Amino acid sequence: MIADDEAESASNSYLLSLVLLVGGAPLPILNLLASVIFYFGARRSSPFVRWHCTQALVGQLLLIPVNSTFLWMTIGLLFGQRELDDFYVGWGLVMLTLNAAELIASIYAAIKVRQGVDVRWWSIAPIVDALLGRQGWGKSVAPAMAMPVIVVVAMAAVTRVPWTAVLHTEKAQGRLEAKIDDLIEEALESNHQSVRDPAMESTLRKVVNRICDANRLECVDYRLYLVRDMTVNAATLPGGHFIVNAGLVFAAPDADALAGVLAHELAHAERGHVRGKLLREIGLSVLMGTKAEQSILLFRRMVSLSYDRDMESEADRSAVDWLVEAKVNPTSFANFLASLADGGSLPLTALARTHPGSEERALKILDRIPAKPPEWTPVLTPQEWEGFRQSLSAVVTKTQ
Ligand SMILES: [Zn+2]
Repeated sequence: MIADDEAESASNSYLLSLVLLVGGAPLPILNLLASVIFYFGARRSSPFVRWHCTQALVGQLLLIPVNSTFLWMTIGLLFGQRELDDFYVGWGLVMLTLNAAELIASIYAAIKVRQGVDVRWWSIAPIVDALLGRQGWGKSVAPAMAMPVIVVVAMAAVTRVPWTAVLHTEKAQGRLEAKIDDLIEEALESNHQSVRDPAMESTLRKVVNRICDANRLECVDYRLYLVRDMTVNAATLPGGHFIVNAGLVFAAPDADALAGVLAHELAHAERGHVRGKLLREIGLSVLMGTKAEQSILLFRRMVSLSYDRDMESEADRSAVDWLVEAKVNPTSFANFLASLADGGSLPLTALARTHPGSEERALKILDRIPAKPPEWTPVLTPQEWEGFRQSLSAVVTKTQ
């Protein structure tokens, strides 16, 4: 027979673990800490109380790795280190199921144990028996392993389900990208920014294709916009849109320097720098619907966005490697950056503003060129380059 106060203490351990489960959900480590303190507090109680106290604790312990992993993934998601993928959704669902099971099992145990009934949790009770020396580990190992094995198998299976497709986030992503396409078109259209000239577009294409073809990059879907903006700048927008300002074309000493800037921007797109950062920043406001003035503001925001130094260095490294592979001499690109750092002769160098440390970047680029370079071939002939600049100049002065 179990004494009433004993039954009450034992039942309380489940109630406390319930409080911990709910309260500790955001920070599983608190959960663990409180459970351990609780366990040591109850160590001197009767065997019945101690046994149930331990069962409540072990039940909690099993949840901690699952909950903590989810917490870290969520932090990663919030800070842009990972995406909302199938693994995350699957893990979350298994975690919710386990926590719900623990919740129900704890309520049931609290009620039954209060009545003096000895509730033994499947797969967990043998661990408790072994921990408290009621039964050897040899006998406990097999049943004790059942729960972890089931959890691991469930995790492996559930995280493989294409949840994001099931939950239509991919559709939302597609919708977002389509909206961004509209927004860019709208912003460029509303202040007659974009230069729509097939000859100039194909020259720009030629430069990009040279880099893409040599490096087997899929650039067919990328869209290049030549824009009447005299600021020295280029930008990568979500959805494979590239903005090339007229100011950049006029400031570049030759087509190879322009190719370097374009290779750098391509790298931002190819390495996924744009997608993560920009989509998070502007994604919501785009999906909420935008008015024309807002679309221009958003567009400006996208164009002026700068990346962190690691991303910039990564983009520079890729740019140099791609240029070398395409037999385009990166020296011109490096010199161009160095000249932007001086600032002096150039009016508005947004490129230097969004890309700080141009001098240092130039040196790193020169460093990365192989000692035995391939035979360099200019990306455009001098005639092509001059023709391109003259056509652009004619369009820009005509509209000013
Ligand atoms: Zn950049």
